[in-house]
Amino acid sequence: MYDYLIVGAGLFGAIFAHEMTAKGSKCLVIDKRSHIGGNCYTEKIEEINVHKYGAHIFHTSDKEIWDYINQFAVFNNYVNSPIAVYKDELYNLPFNMNTFSKMWNITTPDEAKTIIKSQIEKLDISEPKNLEEQALSLVGKDVYDKLIKGYTEKQWGRSCRELPSFIIRRLPLRFIYDNNYFNDRFQGIPIGGYTRIFEKLLNGIEVKPNTNYKDISGEKIAKKIVYTGCIDEFFDYCFGELEYRSVRFETEIINTDNFQGNAVVNYTASDIPYTRIIEHKHFEFGTQSKTVISREYSAEWSPGCEPYYPINDEKNNMLFQRYNKLAQSRSDVIFGGRLGQYKYYDMDKAIRSALNAVKAEG
Ligand code: UDP
Repeated sequence: MYDYLIVGAGLFGAIFAHEMTAKGSKCLVIDKRSHIGGNCYTEKIEEINVHKYGAHIFHTSDKEIWDYINQFAVFNNYVNSPIAVYKDELYNLPFNMNTFSKMWNITTPDEAKTIIKSQIEKLDISEPKNLEEQALSLVGKDVYDKLIKGYTEKQWGRSCRELPSFIIRRLPLRFIYDNNYFNDRFQGIPIGGYTRIFEKLLNGIEVKPNTNYKDISGEKIAKKIVYTGCIDEFFDYCFGELEYRSVRFETEIINTDNFQGNAVVNYTASDIPYTRIIEHKHFEFGTQSKTVISREYSAEWSPGCEPYYPINDEKNNMLFQRYNKLAQSRSDVIFGGRLGQYKYYDMDKAIRSALNAVKAEG
């Protein structure tokens, strides 16, 4: 008999297993995939650490979490500074003086603020009710039309008017020349890839890959379950299906040492079918002779593909609340991670929430 059966070897599951094992609990970790690491998993291709399930850039302002994760990896000094391509124009992200200078051929913060202010005033939005109104009332029409609308609607497969405004508030807006995508105090990529972090976290713990929870849920093998899969699936979709966005990656090895000159290039126009191209080597300042790139195509989740992003609009959040109520009646199950809690977690928040779950176990 195990103390915990942990379903999913991603960040939440691996940290929970690591911490509870250190406290003397007996844990079994299962994962339906053939490997550990969840969506953080990296795999070496042409000596380059490829982020197989999308780019993961670690960033946090939480010193405790930064110190915690640094126990398991050495982080480099990578700073995320994506480029946005809109038709034949190229901009820096996030929205900052480099972006505004290019967009309007201006140089000073006052000029940028005056243009944005005049664009916002024309719109007459008092309280933003959705992502479109939120974006327009932050940066005005030009930035919204060129850098937000097309990208967001491709990524989410929904009109910006139907999306929650918090999504766009993830992005900084600055009136200084600073292309750092994040406002966080700490940032970097683990040298040698993410998978090693998981190997260290799960060292000495029993892990069964290629194992589906549904195939073993018939027998009671643990006192408690930690479930990091989709919460609606756990309850056999009894209230209906929650919606998720999925991503399809087209990964290619290219016989050049530098394909796009940056790790992340976003394609913000609606007529380009992918949202972004990741050139993995640049996360670790790679000097290999070849390169590996991944084009990201966003898609609605359907059975058989991987869920990546919960869609936290009103309809889905209400449905999640019903599942969450049911979850609370199951004192033998802890739900964790992006899928178990139906929350657009960044890595640091997923770690924090796993550590909180450990604390709650006493
Ligand atoms: N976004 C945008 N244009 C861009 C990049 C991002 O409008 O070039 C918006 C889009 O709505 C996206 C959100 O910002 O969903 C959050 O982007 P982030 O880069 O945080 O997404 P993630 O890396 O988690 O996919």
